[in-house]
Amino acid sequence: MSNKPVIGASSCLLGNEVRFDGGHKRDRFITDMLAKHMAIKPVCPEIAIGLGTPRPAIRLQSINGEARLVMSKDNDTDLTDTMQAYADKTLEQFAGLDGFIFKKGSPSCGAWRVPVVVHKDGHKRNDGTGVFAHAFMQRFPWIPVEEEGRLNDEALRQNFIERVYALHRWHNIDNPDTNMQAFIEFHASHKLMLMARSPADYQRLGQFVAQTSQKTLKVRRQEYLLLFMEAMRKHNSRGKHINVLMHIMGYLKEHLNSDDKAELLAHFEAYRKNQLPWISLVVLLKHHLRKHPAPYIDQQHYLKPCPDDIAA
Ligand code: SF4
Repeated sequence: MSNKPVIGASSCLLGNEVRFDGGHKRDRFITDMLAKHMAIKPVCPEIAIGLGTPRPAIRLQSINGEARLVMSKDNDTDLTDTMQAYADKTLEQFAGLDGFIFKKGSPSCGAWRVPVVVHKDGHKRNDGTGVFAHAFMQRFPWIPVEEEGRLNDEALRQNFIERVYALHRWHNIDNPDTNMQAFIEFHASHKLMLMARSPADYQRLGQFVAQTSQKTLKVRRQEYLLLFMEAMRKHNSRGKHINVLMHIMGYLKEHLNSDDKAELLAHFEAYRKNQLPWISLVVLLKHHLRKHPAPYIDQQHYLKPCPDDIAA
């Protein structure tokens, strides 16, 4: 198991000249930032099914109510089944990935809102999914997926990166011989991350863990993963973050003087009003925790969900 997360990405986003026009769509955040911390496997499904570079453009076209992958200038050349067959044949090799970044808008790779031509005058609706991306998401609903365009949104980016690291930690403990202790520790160490998203999901997952035994773990661990990753997909709210931060502050209360407490509370309030980013509170709390270690908080991933330079 790699000590770095391993993600897949549409090959053109990594600067590879695999697009229909012979160009690429290098995304600097992926190649310059994420690549420092993650191993990234390039995948170009159109090259993989034998389309060369350059090649005629392809698109999604509504045919008999179904979005089909066809040549833009020749609707009779339908590549849907070829792409589906490629996905069916090769997806298993991606089962261990910790995430995938797809190229937005692509009829093969786009994850959401891909244009589908619905009329010969060129009229489109924007509710399609690239054929390869659709097959990937159907097969691996627990693997975090994003598009490069959406990674410009701070909240979406942070959520995606946190999910990638969470799944990577899961992969590090998950195997047919996983014991209950590792399973319980995994769940417990994500308590604060889950609480910042959905306290109800944390409770539900806690009951799931309590109802699992060493005997049933083998079959229940995949179900846990699905529920866990679904909960991790939910977005934090400032209010829930503040509840968690207050909880952490509780572990420090005997060591903080009144000025320290007032400073922390003022920061929490500024964060509530959107005047400070979450990471500035993390830095302040970590400063106090360095001086007054709290082993329970140290085991939590909440304050260190990913490397600092890619955290929001
Ligand atoms: S979007 Fe996907 S299919 Fe198109 S060039 Fe990029 S990697 Fe290849």
